[in-house]
Amino acid sequence: MFFIVWGTRRRKKTLGFADVHKCSNCNNAKAFLVINVKEWFTLFWIPIFPVSSQYFLMCPICGYGAQITKEQALAAAGQPHPPQAAQTEPAAPFNEYNQDEQDTNN
Ligand SMILES: [Zn+2]
Repeated sequence: MFFIVWGTRRRKKTLGFADVHKCSNCNNAKAFLVINVKEWFTLFWIPIFPVSSQYFLMCPICGYGAQITKEQALAAAGQPHPPQAAQTEPAAPFNEYNQDEQDTNN
């Protein structure tokens, strides 16, 4: 018996850092993360093509975010490292935001 396994899968990718914003949820002033969430159509668990692509500006502390356009995201994510923020604690590592995905496409 032969059957086809298909579905969708979300992939979250950090594009970079935006300017320091004061989060309206947790009130921390931090360099917000610019992330891209793509939903892929998968066949036998292999991503074939993206079905949707959304961009978000996300607070690195509490994960609170707002959806932005692709143009806004590309313009905002010009900084690979966080600009100097008011607080001194280091920014969260990238992989904390990427750990829910395993790249099986290598
Ligand atoms: Zn926040």
